[in-house]
Amino acid sequence: MRNTIRRPGLLVVISGPSGAGKSSTLRLVMERCGDICFSVSATTRRPRPGEEEGRHYYFVSCERFEEMRRNGELLECAEYAGDFYGTPAAPVLAGVAAGQVCVLDIEARGAIQVRRCCPDSVLVFISPPDRAELERRLRDRRTESEEKIKRRMEALEEQMAALPLYDYQVVNDVLDDAARSVLSIIEAERCRTSRALV
Ligand code: ADP
Ligand code: 5GP
Repeated sequence: MRNTIRRPGLLVVISGPSGAGKSSTLRLVMERCGDICFSVSATTRRPRPGEEEGRHYYFVSCERFEEMRRNGELLECAEYAGDFYGTPAAPVLAGVAAGQVCVLDIEARGAIQVRRCCPDSVLVFISPPDRAELERRLRDRRTESEEKIKRRMEALEEQMAALPLYDYQVVNDVLDDAARSVLSIIEAERCRTSRALV
């Protein structure tokens, strides 16, 4: 009989426009599901108040980012609203191989690269209820300058255009409902017969 205790690892990509609620949703998901690891990205953007090195991001110089990219240390990378972002490959690949659920909070061009190199990955798109609510959330968060908010709103159309490439869409209207939907997706994907461990 097959081993029903060991569970398959899973690579989950979460994307969506800035301010849609990806971090808020993931915070709830991680509180409620034990074996999830969050992939900490490298970025050239400045830390926001409260963001910690190695927990929210690895904050690196443009030179260091370019070195990581050239050395093949990144699973994917992209520029977003004037800054560079990339996923360190080693922890994600090791986590999935060890049976963990690894979650990447990345934008759409990175998601496409992940789908190409890891076809088994699951792509989830978090949408805001509408454009006005998105802008309200970005402003109320008070983490970006007016210029940065403008650039993030300009990136909205490009991010939304990628929606058909995703396996699932979750509209983040009520935060708790969005978190429950993401948890259901993860649970269902781990139960797929095609992922069963022999
Ligand atoms: P993202 O990670 O997608 O950029 P955040 O999770 O930082 O977005 O959310 C942006 C802002 O919107 C935050 O201030 C957060 O508290 C708020 N927010 C997130 N989800 C909701 C929701 N369902 N209803 C109202 N406000 C929300
Ligand atoms: P923020 O600056 O608000 O933390 O993130 C801005 C955007 O960059 C978000 O859409 C987020 O999903 C994306 N992002 C964060 N890390 C990565 C990464 O490693 N790779 C890519 N491609 N996008 C990322």
